[in-house]
Amino acid sequence: MTIAHHIPEDILIAYSSGSLSEAWSLVVATHLALCPDCRATVSVIDDVGGTLLEMIEQTETDEQAFDRLMRAIDDLPMDDVQPASAKRSVPAILPEPLISYLGSDLHALKWRRLGKGVFHIPITTGDTGVKARMLKVPAGRPVPMHGHKGNELTIVLVGAFHTHQGMFERGDVEVADGSIEHMPVAAPGEDCICLAVTDAPLRFRSIAARVVQKFIGI
Ligand SMILES: [Zn+2]
Repeated sequence: MTIAHHIPEDILIAYSSGSLSEAWSLVVATHLALCPDCRATVSVIDDVGGTLLEMIEQTETDEQAFDRLMRAIDDLPMDDVQPASAKRSVPAILPEPLISYLGSDLHALKWRRLGKGVFHIPITTGDTGVKARMLKVPAGRPVPMHGHKGNELTIVLVGAFHTHQGMFERGDVEVADGSIEHMPVAAPGEDCICLAVTDAPLRFRSIAARVVQKFIGI
């Protein structure tokens, strides 16, 4: 498994500093469970961040401190980092962070109908305003074209989907914000199961999708 689409570095830094809310942390932790590269990056950020925070003077602004942190990270010899993943066996279908929310049996999940063959399972977190959900899109079928008022992170767990940004397979994360309108299409052969987190309602183009949206609060 080769992961091509990673969590952006600024989000990894926020995760490392503990400033991400629960739902966003769930996506990041799920990706980290599957991605040795990002695990290695986070462990470097953890090390550098701890040292740097001790060095930063109170007079420095957040922006200056952030720039300094980024420069320190850029200077690090990443090749020297040994990801902890080498000893991991083939991962279970649901990565560990999700098992505590959904259980370990993928076949026992209680999917709810979203229409057009798409199903979802809302995941309860302590967050208000940020929504996490599992999504299941039938093989070869699209999620209706939509844009975003806020941010969306989607990680693939089973199957694959593609957008204009390329193919997303198990472990890959798609990052969307207000500037992106997309229509993910599940790859043929296998239903695509993802974890998606959003911090604002999606903007669907089609009227039918907007009507459904009113009822399910997606
Ligand atoms: Zn990664």
